[in-house]
Amino acid sequence: MSQTDHGNFVAGTWSGPLEPPNSVPSSADVVVIGGGIIGASTAWFLAKQGVDVVLCEKGHIAGEQSGRNWGWVRQQGRDTREMPMIVESMRIWRGLAAEIGEDVGYTEQGVLYAAATDRQMNRYAARIDTADEFKVGTRMIDANELAQHVSGGKGDWKGAMYTATDGRAEPHKATPAIARAAVSKGATVLTSCAVRGIEISAGQVSAVVTEHGPIRTSTVLCAAGAWTSMFCRSLGISVPQLKVRGTVARMAPSASVLDGNLCDDRIGIRRRQDGGYTLALGTNLDHPITPSTFRFGLKYLRAFLMDMESVQLLIGRDFAEEWSAPKTWSLDAESPFERTRVLDPEPNRKVLKSIRLNVDKVFPQLADVEIVESWAGMIDMTPDIIPLIDEAASLPGFYIATGFSGHGFGIGPGAGKAIAGMLSGNDSGIDLKEFRLSRFFDGTPIRPQAGV
Ligand SMILES: Cc1cc2nc3c(=O)[nH]c(=O)nc-3n(C[C@H](O)[C@H](O)[C@H](O)COP(=O)(O)OP(=O)(O)OC[C@H]3O[C@@H](n4cnc5c(N)ncnc54)[C@H](O)[C@@H]3O)c2cc1C
Repeated sequence: MSQTDHGNFVAGTWSGPLEPPNSVPSSADVVVIGGGIIGASTAWFLAKQGVDVVLCEKGHIAGEQSGRNWGWVRQQGRDTREMPMIVESMRIWRGLAAEIGEDVGYTEQGVLYAAATDRQMNRYAARIDTADEFKVGTRMIDANELAQHVSGGKGDWKGAMYTATDGRAEPHKATPAIARAAVSKGATVLTSCAVRGIEISAGQVSAVVTEHGPIRTSTVLCAAGAWTSMFCRSLGISVPQLKVRGTVARMAPSASVLDGNLCDDRIGIRRRQDGGYTLALGTNLDHPITPSTFRFGLKYLRAFLMDMESVQLLIGRDFAEEWSAPKTWSLDAESPFERTRVLDPEPNRKVLKSIRLNVDKVFPQLADVEIVESWAGMIDMTPDIIPLIDEAASLPGFYIATGFSGHGFGIGPGAGKAIAGMLSGNDSGIDLKEFRLSRFFDGTPIRPQAGV
């Protein structure tokens, strides 16, 4: 997939320079590494507090996960530990367009997890208590009520878990718009600007070294998505992180068969603002086996057992690529981050075929509608499938926010607010202790509650 093939999708709606900056600021209060929804939202909240923040993105804003996702913004089916943050995130999404003066495609048309068996219905029903605790209005609906949401859908469903106030937004619009909002509040956003590493003085962060020169700072946020573990390893910090690939397709505009989002074992489908559908093969994902699979595998045992039906293990060239990748590098020469400006995995061709077959079966009215675009994205997941948000104990001033594990788009603005609070010392009201790094090493039981 090249930038030309995908026009607006890959380039997104980032209107800032795609060319490298001529220079970088000599200093900043905070430097954010990564221009996904987490980095951009954090920079926006910091800038609103008057913090002098510089965001460095090696490629372009939302070039990786944040521009490639399904666009679901959901509270339903989440890990209880994420609930306070997603509730706050929903509040931010609702007012986002008005606050920043830009459309991000946000609308609340509901999310449906449709179930074909009693077992699935029971599994979903078991999640209702958590939803009730946080008053998000999730409920089980029967096949008759489900039929009112899907016109002509032939899913043989018994019912669904449903949250009317869950929504969707357009990934290619949202993160660029948030990054522009950050700039309008005084942040500096640099694209084509990879961070190669960190300078340390007296045991703490003293600068980031970008490919265009150093920026003096005492506070760095590494929000580098799928690159975080590699970046941290070069600093001697172990971050358990594995990648799974999701394949996605976009259908041309058509008559509506569904206004919101629906997922079952065979399809993931959501209405797009352009009148088309974003499609996937249910929750199907591939995990390319790499040395990290063996390094961190034991910690992921529960996650794999839970998601076994939906994650395919693949052996391919990713193993050799990671094996031969450098573990450390000189800060004066080209780094791995400049060599891969945008992580752009090939979509899984078999999955694309199955998406077409399954959509035609479930929504025969869409059988003649063309699939006009396809892509893939590498999701970075932690062993318990909830994020890691913390300061590294071994390196004061170095903070990490990563591992949003397949559901970081919806929670992104809320996470950005919480992370900005952690960095600036202004309490956001969101407790981050469940997201600490030490949980993976101090004997805390690793217990994922919800899938990728
Ligand atoms: C196929 C797919 C479907 C998904 N569907 C959903 C969904 O429907 N709803 C939902 O909530 N979530 C979904 N997600 C998950 C969501 O997209 C992610 O959790 C979220 O986007 C993560 O944001 P991020 O900012 O942490 O990472 P990213 O968006 O990956 O951003 C990290 C950025 O850091 C940059 N970077 C890395 N290293 C460096 C460096 N050294 N210097 C400078 N820049 C660097 C990268 O270039 C990248 O742009 C999906 C993800 C995928 C791939």
